[in-house]
Amino acid sequence: MKAFKYLSPKSVEEAIAFHGRHSETSRFIGGGTDVIVKLKEGWMEPDFLISLKKIKEMGELSKNNATGELSIGAMVTHATLEKSIMIQKEYPIIYDAVSNIGSLQVRNVGTIGGNLINAVPSADGAIPLIALDGVALLHGPDGERSASVKDLFIKPYKTILKPGEILKKITIPPQEPYTGSAYIKFGRRAAMELPLVGIGVLLTLDHARKICKKARICLGVAAPVPMRAFDAEKFLAGKEINEETLVKAGRIAADESKVRDSVRGKAWHRKEMIRVQVKRMGQKCLELIRNNN
Ligand SMILES: Cc1cc2nc3c(=O)[nH]c(=O)nc-3n(C[C@H](O)[C@H](O)[C@H](O)COP(=O)(O)OP(=O)(O)OC[C@H]3O[C@@H](n4cnc5c(N)ncnc54)[C@H](O)[C@@H]3O)c2cc1C
Repeated sequence: MKAFKYLSPKSVEEAIAFHGRHSETSRFIGGGTDVIVKLKEGWMEPDFLISLKKIKEMGELSKNNATGELSIGAMVTHATLEKSIMIQKEYPIIYDAVSNIGSLQVRNVGTIGGNLINAVPSADGAIPLIALDGVALLHGPDGERSASVKDLFIKPYKTILKPGEILKKITIPPQEPYTGSAYIKFGRRAAMELPLVGIGVLLTLDHARKICKKARICLGVAAPVPMRAFDAEKFLAGKEINEETLVKAGRIAADESKVRDSVRGKAWHRKEMIRVQVKRMGQKCLELIRNNN
């Protein structure tokens, strides 16, 4: 592995300034679970690694009780999210996703920001944040801007981030009453393996807990980037949620997915699992709504 200098700025501004002085030869590092692999394999050979670990605001997880907005610093680890009682109770789709990432060791250091910016089609952390209408706050040499998490990804390993830009945090708007959400990382094994497909469903029902006010159906490893199954979402909106409508939504989602064969699985298998698991995750949402509200 090539030698490099490790820098530990204490603010976002300092990190951006460091990067500006060495833009061609420096890389940001979060928990390092992806970066270290690339360094060891020689796929990345920076002179400077700019760690984001000491930037306090980027490690904060909080909910504004007045507005209901959730704020997740980009340096919040999967383990922090997994252990948070608030996340477990109020955002089960986040808990379902992060609690199955890698191993305990990976979750202890791997961050939600690194998971998004690494931008692989199988990023487990991306699906719940898209389903929850998450917004990413970016800060770079030209100042701050925001983008919906759904729009962060251009293609595998490529996001909309410009050189020197940092993902600071993700905000989640307040959830409406009668909302349930669930995610499944579907594969041969749950742990230490990337998913064959990742399926996240979020449903908001009306006061009578029957009619769908809002549906989000989000898929990982179903296209080059994490995707929303818009046709299936549109089909459910305004309809009564029951076995029949969920089965149909699963079929529509499978049809609009852009799955392909890979070393980990065949396209037909992925499609079939989307069809089945959209229905199951929808049923899990219904159970959560009925039990919690
Ligand atoms: C054994 C193993 C198992 C794994 N299992 C899974 C799994 O099951 N599911 C899954 O989704 N992933 C898995 N991963 C991948 C990885 O652990 C996650 O993607 C993790 O969340 C990456 O976060 P990190 O902080 O370690 O990122 P890093 O390695 O620090 O960074 C990843 C990339 O993002 C950039 N970056 C990091 N933070 C920021 C920021 N705030 N702003 C701008 N750029 C930034 C870095 O420059 C780098 O390009 C696994 C990895 C390993 C090694």
